[in-house]
Amino acid sequence: MKHPIVIAIDGTSASGKSTNAKLVAKAIGFVYVDTGAMYRTLAWYCHKNKINVDDPKVVAATCRKWKTSLECVHNHVHLLVDGYHPAKEIRTAETSAAVSHIAAYPKVRDWMKKTQRDCIRFGNLVMEGRDIGTNVFPETDYKFYLDAKLEERSRRRSADGVEENLAARDQRDSQRAAAPLMIALGAKVINNSHMTSEQTSGLLIADLKQRLGL
Ligand code: C5P
Repeated sequence: MKHPIVIAIDGTSASGKSTNAKLVAKAIGFVYVDTGAMYRTLAWYCHKNKINVDDPKVVAATCRKWKTSLECVHNHVHLLVDGYHPAKEIRTAETSAAVSHIAAYPKVRDWMKKTQRDCIRFGNLVMEGRDIGTNVFPETDYKFYLDAKLEERSRRRSADGVEENLAARDQRDSQRAAAPLMIALGAKVINNSHMTSEQTSGLLIADLKQRLGL
């Protein structure tokens, strides 16, 4: 069997990764995976169970013990905990504030990488995150890095009704020792500060259709 194809879309917070990755996946018929949602699920689970997110050992032990499963619904992969998909709960300001702290723990990243690589059992993927092209699927030929000016990204987040310090989260994501946010070798970089999502996804889709011969 041919190895499934993985499209890696990395980038800064609120740079349009989710919107564009979903549009790309739909256009080329691939399965969409939001890896940020997986880290958020762990942060939410720790909060709900009063697990100390400042203690890497306790959080790593949680990764070993929590009961999770992956499911693919309408071509989107979800991480379930105890059979539950916390779609809304993981988007709160509380979760956003905690998530980049636990994402810096190497044992957490090991667990996430294994789980994310396991997603190829669902087929060809469009996977978005911070380290997909550098760490999770470094072997893929299809890598993109999205970015936009900080003011524009903050404006987009507030338009979604979320006020948060994006600069602080980006700094934590870029400066951690384990798989930091950075541009993967060979990634196509798109700064979409002045672009709509139709324009951004249009660029990605045209490039991929040509390279994949679709
Ligand atoms: O993409 P999203 O903003 O939902 O990601 C939440 C957080 O999860 C990021 O700020 C980052 O700390 C972490 N993350 C990561 N690696 C990924 C995806 C997300 O470290 N591949």
